[in-house]
Amino acid sequence: LSFASSESLNACPKLRERPGGPVSAACVPVTFMGRALGVLHASSNVEQPLSPLQLDRLTNLGVQAGGRIGTVRAFERTQLQASTDSLTGLANRRRVEQRMRGLAQGSKSFALVLCDLDHFKRLNDTYGHQTGDAALRAFADVVRACTRDDDVAGRWGGEEFAFLLVNAGSTEALQWTERVRDRLALALKGHSVPAFTASFGIVDSSVSRAAEVLVRLADEALYRAKAAGRDRAASAPAGASDDAVAERQPSEHRASISLPMLAAVD
Ligand code: GH3
Ligand code: MG
Ligand code: MG
Repeated sequence: LSFASSESLNACPKLRERPGGPVSAACVPVTFMGRALGVLHASSNVEQPLSPLQLDRLTNLGVQAGGRIGTVRAFERTQLQASTDSLTGLANRRRVEQRMRGLAQGSKSFALVLCDLDHFKRLNDTYGHQTGDAALRAFADVVRACTRDDDVAGRWGGEEFAFLLVNAGSTEALQWTERVRDRLALALKGHSVPAFTASFGIVDSSVSRAAEVLVRLADEALYRAKAAGRDRAASAPAGASDDAVAERQPSEHRASISLPMLAAVD
């Protein structure tokens, strides 16, 4: 759309009463696949309206900007979908693993918390799968409210979840799980979803910085929490990992040859 003067009757109302006085203007739509994204707007002196060439260039710019913005937005949406769990809106396992590898390579301390909802099969069998899904969403809401921006809350699969707590050790992670358990109990009071609990397995980056070791140790801790009666958290013992033991032992010790061995060679 072109307007010879912002004061003319048919001019865009947004052009009126400019501090610098009347202007001549052109507005070019910015679209992507038929959807409006915005407007490119250029103004000039009333005596010197945009030339046909300038208008042409502005139109071209609008088309190119629309293509670029649309592509970037579509890419972002795809990225988000590829890293999000559709039922809960939490990060999916791929995203959690990706972040864990990133954290493991960095210098910040962090804790990995694996979580499994208790007797979830029973909840499904008693109240139906839809209620089970609603319970998973209710749990996701609780953990979302408990995590900081830097942390990652993800669905590990089924009724299992994984959390990465940045700048936290096992002690802080344990306190965090207590907060989650308290908040869950509170959130389910008067909720349409029946009450349920969760068990947690904790490990932190002082034990190992190898992602697969951390997952194994958190999983073992979770198993202990289940075996001890559920609705609780258990932590991997300090020095639980093989590589942590290797790190603490000087290499001479690992390569030592005992005197009886030497005697045997003699
Ligand atoms: P435990 O306390 O030992 O963890 O017992 P559990 O019943 O939670 O464990 P089990 O592995 O026997 O059962 C897990 C159940 O979680 C079975 C499955 O139906 C349910 N489940 C997994 N994913 C979903 C889901 O996306 N929606 C619903 N509604 N249920 C799910
Ligand atoms: Mg399970
Ligand atoms: Mg379970």
